[in-house]
Amino acid sequence: MKVSRYNFAHVEEASHNSQVVIYNSRTGAMAALEPDKYADFKKFEENGICIGDTEFVEQLMYCGFLIDDDFDEINHIKASLHASRYNNSVMSLTIAPTMACNFACAYCFENGIDRNEEMSEDTMKRLVNFIEARASHLDELHITWFGGEPLLAVPQLETISRHVIEICKANNVKYTSIVVTNGYLLTQENANKLMDCAVSNVQVTIDGGKELHNSRRPLVDGSGTFERIIQNVSLAKHIIPITIRINVDNENHTCLGEVMNVFNVISIESNNLRRSKNMKILVKPADDAITPMGCVIKLPTICILFW
Ligand code: SF4
Repeated sequence: MKVSRYNFAHVEEASHNSQVVIYNSRTGAMAALEPDKYADFKKFEENGICIGDTEFVEQLMYCGFLIDDDFDEINHIKASLHASRYNNSVMSLTIAPTMACNFACAYCFENGIDRNEEMSEDTMKRLVNFIEARASHLDELHITWFGGEPLLAVPQLETISRHVIEICKANNVKYTSIVVTNGYLLTQENANKLMDCAVSNVQVTIDGGKELHNSRRPLVDGSGTFERIIQNVSLAKHIIPITIRINVDNENHTCLGEVMNVFNVISIESNNLRRSKNMKILVKPADDAITPMGCVIKLPTICILFW
């Protein structure tokens, strides 16, 4: 067992007894460690002193902070890159069935785009034909439903999915799909429809605690969205797997603890997320974040935030 060359640690120096956030840039794993756990980790890294807590070691291995002695990370990355570059048997598509959105996020990348545009019948047909023409050469097809807000276009999503599922069945292609949504329309009814469309995961973005989220991700009329999203997620998670995405930047990095507390309320074990079957939390640095390590996450011992 050895330490990954892709580990980074951020020690919060201002505080006396604060946690250390460690990040692995190969696997994307991020974890908050209590000082004593980090000290154990450092002793192993610097002096090869064994870490006594086997569950802690397992978690570090699982996330890629520790790796097997014979595992060559550089060769593994090169091999993965080459494999994906020359692999024509896997097709990944990102489809926006509508550019319309019920939110008015201040930072929306779609500012300036015609937001009333929906995918036409003709475009849907051509899209299905495009997939059908390639299906016989594929082993796998993956679709990410994006927008705008894709749940404003559930009928289009259902129509395309129905055709794609048939095509994949006929050609023995493994089909997977996810939906990236703001969560406001993630009702139980829509969650069931998405399940019928072979959607395997729904990604919902939350920008912080209630106040901050509502100021950054309001409805078009300016009203808040936080409570409705949390209510939707708490019901829909029994129907379909959900990933909560938190984009971290300079403004909201201190809100992570607040967000985690909200998910505790809806029965998510914040200190054991990897065992939560239908729920994950994904923390991503936004463009203007200080660094991925610039966030202070108030969570017990080791909390796997994403990997
Ligand atoms: S939810 Fe997404 S598409 Fe809609 S306004 Fe916000 S960032 Fe833009």
